[in-house]
Amino acid sequence: MTLADYMSVCLLDPDHGYYATRDPFGAAGDFITAPEISQMFGELIGLCLAQAWLDQGAPASFVLAEAGPGRGTLMADILRATKAVPGFHAAARVHLVEASATLRAAQATRVPGAVWLDRVDQLPALPLFLVANEFFDALPIRQFQRAGDAWRERVVGLKDGALTLGLTTPVPLAALAHHLSETRDGDIVETCPALPAIAGTIGARIATHGGAGLVIDYGDWTSLGDTFQAVQGHAVTDPLAAPGQADLTAHVDFAALAAAVAPARHTRLTPQGVFLERLGITPRAQTLATGLQGEALEAHVAAHRRLTDPALMGDHFKVMGIYPHGAAPPPGLNA
Ligand code: SAH
Repeated sequence: MTLADYMSVCLLDPDHGYYATRDPFGAAGDFITAPEISQMFGELIGLCLAQAWLDQGAPASFVLAEAGPGRGTLMADILRATKAVPGFHAAARVHLVEASATLRAAQATRVPGAVWLDRVDQLPALPLFLVANEFFDALPIRQFQRAGDAWRERVVGLKDGALTLGLTTPVPLAALAHHLSETRDGDIVETCPALPAIAGTIGARIATHGGAGLVIDYGDWTSLGDTFQAVQGHAVTDPLAAPGQADLTAHVDFAALAAAVAPARHTRLTPQGVFLERLGITPRAQTLATGLQGEALEAHVAAHRRLTDPALMGDHFKVMGIYPHGAAPPPGLNA
């Protein structure tokens, strides 16, 4: 099977899939995400979206959405931070796009009253203010290895009773022609088959009805090379070793994302640390620090550093904003 089929069944099979059977977040889980590190992340995202809403004339009814909300912590922090923005809550219709029933239940405890959807194309046709943190990296990818001017696909099969990676016979692929100038024989490129439709829907909503999107993830402007990885118990493992029990991800191809959101506009790719500093994470951290002492203060300072330090998450994670023609880019991001 293709890596995409393998990833899809490993992550989302209703009985055995990784996200379908567990809550993987936090110190006791397999990995930790920015909203689980500090409330400041969601607070600043919330104020960024609320300012974008104000900048676009504060539409009286809009969709406040998150794709892949995990535990629901990010949306809960967004909602708490935006309580003080006059009219924002009254106008917001909160929608969570989540495939896992287990995680929907976790989200319901933190975001009561939300509407759950399976896919972004089910979002109401209204102005859309959306965040997706570590969502696109969970979408299944395919990998192709260059062989002359053709490509062999990397596929998962069984050999002597064990899962193993293999290569198909080479075929020329028009969809990968643009990679021929930037690759050599044997190089691997990745594609994300679900990305164009999902990003295209978000872009079309924002272009037609207004709104803003914030996509935060690891990856870069180009996708070259093998970024398929498994994480279990905070350590990188073999993606074939324990299907359904490890998180499987790949880096996000932000150039593909940018192309797919047209006719909406996209901002430049901005490192997460720079974005959070522009939104005021340091003064916010200082305010929160005044109420803390001892270990709690140390943990708070460490969390601030973890989110922003270029050697930690600050540079590895990137932010891309999506916005309509004629509007300002979301705060903290440049056209
Ligand atoms: N944004 C959260 C969680 C990131 S993990 C955080 O920052 O903590 C990825 C999330 O995307 C999980 O909630 C997972 O169940 C969800 N997900 C993965 N693939 C999905 C798909 N195809 N459709 C909808 N949700 C999906």
